[in-house]
Amino acid sequence: MRRCIKEASERRGRIANDVTLIAVTKGVGINEINEAIACGITDIGENKVQEAVAKYNQLRILHSAFRTMKWHMVGHLQRNKVKDAVKIFDVIHSVDSIELAEELNKHLDRKVDIFIQVNISGEATKFGIKPDGLLEFSEHIRRLENLNLKGLMTIAPLIANPQQSRPYFRALRLLKDKINCADLSMGMSNDFEIAVEEGSTYVRIGTAIFKK
Ligand SMILES: *Cc1c(COP(=O)(O)O)cnc(C)c1O
Repeated sequence: MRRCIKEASERRGRIANDVTLIAVTKGVGINEINEAIACGITDIGENKVQEAVAKYNQLRILHSAFRTMKWHMVGHLQRNKVKDAVKIFDVIHSVDSIELAEELNKHLDRKVDIFIQVNISGEATKFGIKPDGLLEFSEHIRRLENLNLKGLMTIAPLIANPQQSRPYFRALRLLKDKINCADLSMGMSNDFEIAVEEGSTYVRIGTAIFKK
């Protein structure tokens, strides 16, 4: 665990300052998360609302650095979980439908940062907006007063050679420029270096930090 944190920090050293490292803690226990926080992790990513709420409540009691931490929802968000999600998350990376966006907007009493999830590879199993509907979708999002559109998020296909993810990351960057936003949430344990080379500003890393 410690070794992996160190490795991740070293990798982070290679990452420019404007890249936020999100430690994705799904399936990871409180002790390990605590250790990661002690090592300087400030951004936590979860993909299930219930699991996130439970950890949020435990960590709030345990950790003095808690108030400066940010919680990121990186997984698919169901509309019936929105009420709970808005209580703990600072950033939603997975806005993938108008219905979800409107539900979030309705339940928020403050502005939250959001990313539009784009299905850049066109895989049937992936959530996300299709590139050709993105402009219209982003205009709709911008009319919702409680959502602050930060940028675009994608999950590249799982391929053995991360270099093969490069065209997907590059395509997302071009889309981001087209809709005029600042940030890109892309890159996971196996492909984050490529993602950063292609302009990622938020990398979401789980196994590279926490795998024993
Ligand atoms: C699990 C997960 C990650 C982290 O994946 P690793 O390969 O473990 O780094 C990133 N993004 C999302 C959406 C995830 O669900």
